[in-house]
Amino acid sequence: MAHLLGTRIMLAMLAAMVAAGAVFLLDADPTAGLVALVGGMAAALIAAGAGDAAAPPLPDPEPAPVIPPIGPVLEAIVEPLLVVADGRVGDANAAARRLLGNHIIGQDVRLAIRHPAAADRLNAPSGLADAAPINLVGLGTLDQRWEMHVADVPSGQRIVHLIDQTGNYAAERVRVDFVANASHELRTPLASILGFVETLSDDKAGADPATRQRFLKVMFDEARRMQRLIEDLISLSRIEAEKYRLPDRSVALAALITDVRSELLDTHDPRARAISTDLAEGVPAVVGDPAQLSQVLHNLLGNAMKYGRAGTPVMVRLWRDSANMVRLSVADEGDGIASEHIPRLTERFYRVDAGRSRSLGGTGLGLAIVKHIVERHRGRLDIASEVGKGTIVTIVLPPAMSSKSNTVVTQDR
Ligand code: ADP
Repeated sequence: MAHLLGTRIMLAMLAAMVAAGAVFLLDADPTAGLVALVGGMAAALIAAGAGDAAAPPLPDPEPAPVIPPIGPVLEAIVEPLLVVADGRVGDANAAARRLLGNHIIGQDVRLAIRHPAAADRLNAPSGLADAAPINLVGLGTLDQRWEMHVADVPSGQRIVHLIDQTGNYAAERVRVDFVANASHELRTPLASILGFVETLSDDKAGADPATRQRFLKVMFDEARRMQRLIEDLISLSRIEAEKYRLPDRSVALAALITDVRSELLDTHDPRARAISTDLAEGVPAVVGDPAQLSQVLHNLLGNAMKYGRAGTPVMVRLWRDSANMVRLSVADEGDGIASEHIPRLTERFYRVDAGRSRSLGGTGLGLAIVKHIVERHRGRLDIASEVGKGTIVTIVLPPAMSSKSNTVVTQDR
């Protein structure tokens, strides 16, 4: 703008000077020439200003919005999406092609999504944009569950949107199973206690001191079993409630191992004497929650003592590995665990042999608790076992310096 105005004034002034020069040449009167020059310049300036006021330059036009073609937009969406025109698949993004096959473009949409419930909805007349989604089971793999939404767009096309609900269903199933299992685990000892109370209240059975003693012992053991289960359930829910809060204490694992070993020796469990330790020098501390890490040790040592053969050692090792991570392992010499069970051992209430676990005082929650605690500490849990030889459970934790830079990765079971 300023540049344009300057150019105009310059041109006007030039014209005034040319006019004044002409007066000089024609009249040879310097005064008339001077008047012509000044007047011309003033007139030129006024004209330049007036011209500016009369016709302000138009503002720069807004650039026209660039509308990207719909194809790349569809591709950028991670969930399967299909554009349907006249009952045929006009377009489908990569997720939809991966799920239903590359051949679906141009195909009748009811053949593309081979599912009876989907076909009914896709056959239905338009105007169902806000109708409830349809649940599809078995599209893709047999256990996959999808929610299908169909929306009509003004161009006459239909958008079919598939949302993967497999994870949500699995989480819901785990929750329902957990409540059912916990109730069952509590009901069994409770039923046993009630049965014995009833028997003892009978004058005949209750009068015999030996029988009474035996029944009271069973009742005590069952009550203790319920107590352990409730304590583990409370621990699990506390750990879950805190899972996104990073622990903030510096914990020296060597000292913790020594403390837990002494605590176990104090219980006078004969298997506690089998525990020996191999603690490397200079292992860095970890950022942790001492009470939770102590619980990890109790659970792992408890399992090694329970499932290791009588008279065999239980070895606790602590060292720093070549990747500078802190490793703690608990090894026993027992029956071991068949490989097909290993991935499921951290599920709540999963046991290889439920009868054996119960008879040894197990709740089926020990390794689930360990897994949750290790995840809260941004660590990893490895279980290696050989049937007939024994089991080594290792936890890998980041050293204190680097633990805060790790990201949260949790998965509920
Ligand atoms: P439990 O209270 O039953 O011991 P856990 O969650 O601690 O529950 O362990 C789950 C199951 O894993 C156990 O029931 C047992 O079958 C198996 N298990 C755990 N640790 C060992 C081990 N050291 N040796 C053999 N089996 C083990």
